[in-house]
Amino acid sequence: MNKIAFIGAGNMARAIIIGLVNSGITPENIIVANPSEAKRLDLSNEFGVLHTSDNIKASEFANIIVLCVKPHFIGDVCQQISQAITIEGKLFISVAAGTTVAQIQSALATEQSTSSAPVVRVMPNTPSQLGLGMSGLFASSEVTAEQKVNAEKITNAVGKSIWLDTEDKINNIIAVAGSAPAYFFLFMEAMEQQAKAYGFTDQESRMLVQQTALGSAQMVAHNSASITELRGNVTSKGGTTHAAIEQFKHDGLAAMVKNAMDAAIARAEEMA
Ligand code: NAP
Repeated sequence: MNKIAFIGAGNMARAIIIGLVNSGITPENIIVANPSEAKRLDLSNEFGVLHTSDNIKASEFANIIVLCVKPHFIGDVCQQISQAITIEGKLFISVAAGTTVAQIQSALATEQSTSSAPVVRVMPNTPSQLGLGMSGLFASSEVTAEQKVNAEKITNAVGKSIWLDTEDKINNIIAVAGSAPAYFFLFMEAMEQQAKAYGFTDQESRMLVQQTALGSAQMVAHNSASITELRGNVTSKGGTTHAAIEQFKHDGLAAMVKNAMDAAIARAEEMA
């Protein structure tokens, strides 16, 4: 039976814990460690998970340790754990953006260690809170097949996931999925503003955009046709949609999207 420790009880830990408990993982097999009492008590009261202020106690309890702290705390937390307990047989999963497997393994290394710790890096996104997340995973060579299955179970509890064959693709996942909810929000925001300019109330504008986005995403999710085909099906030549699409093309939407995604990758590389 897997026992899972979350180091850090913030937004991402909460999203994953909700998914795990909803997917049937026994809450007594999950422990959260967090400095402030309020956050860990909230999680414990809501979901029945164990809690502690002690990262070492949590790490001793578990065979899977999920590092859910901000990237600048990862090094200290890993050193603190590896100095206090034997980390052999434990899988480390990190959701921290911009912190590499090599950096995590180096922070986990001790004078006694003879091999590097198995580490899985995960890049999730915020729809994980609703069980609709999209994650990319990369495993270090030390991660066993069984540990890969366990890591996947965790990310699949909050949505869907794909394995990456090289670590640098984590930055591509950031551009395509990690940062991407905000791209859709930006587009929806612009449409909402325009709906208001056409005289719809705030409430009507929000509903018009929200329901249209939801319906469109559901059509993609429930249809085997390509996204290009789906767009073609609702774009009669010479019609209103065609006029709008031609304007988007004329204004360079595809290039704007490419440049924005490239900018996300460049920023992720700078932050590494
Ligand atoms: P968050 O809400 O700020 O949570 C971080 C938590 O870590 C806080 O509850 C904080 O506790 C706790 N913490 C700080 N120092 C600690 C320590 N030494 N030991 C144990 N816990 C400690 O941040 P988040 O949004 O969950 O992000 C966590 C990680 O997920 C980050 O590395 C981020 O890059 C990654 N991530 C997040 C998202 C996202 O959409 N949120 C997406 C992809 C990746 P206190 O508040 O009590 O100090």
